[in-house]
Amino acid sequence: MAGEAQSDCLFCKIVAGEIPATVVRKTERVLAFRDIAPKAPVHVLVIPHVHYPNAAALAAAEPGIAGELLAEAGRVAEDEGIADYRLIFNTGAGAGQTVFHAHVHVLGGTHMTESMV
Ligand code: 5GP
Ligand code: ZN
Repeated sequence: MAGEAQSDCLFCKIVAGEIPATVVRKTERVLAFRDIAPKAPVHVLVIPHVHYPNAAALAAAEPGIAGELLAEAGRVAEDEGIADYRLIFNTGAGAGQTVFHAHVHVLGGTHMTESMV
């Protein structure tokens, strides 16, 4: 069924608590945690609990959750005390996506260069 947890998905395992993560925000539908290899002083990943392969697929199937994902990204930035930040949705291996569970990178806390993430 669409949105079901995938046994081979790293982020589904983080949602399930099977792999530890430094969680910064959690709602019924969305989880935010620090990236394990931060590319900026603030580097948080915001993901839906449900599994979709990328953000556009999530938005097509579950627009309400996609909206909540964006709202939570803004709350992460607020919690971290950064007014200026970048949201990145890598989609497809050729664009740098390595985990095929929808997520947005929240990056900030420094002057942003063009080549981050
Ligand atoms: P992508 O390249 O797919 O847009 O982003 C995946 C992100 O997940 C990368 O920035 C990578 O550092 C992060 N990542 C990979 N494995 C783990 C992990 O086990 N824990 C955490 N917190 N982040 C991870
Ligand atoms: Zn998943």
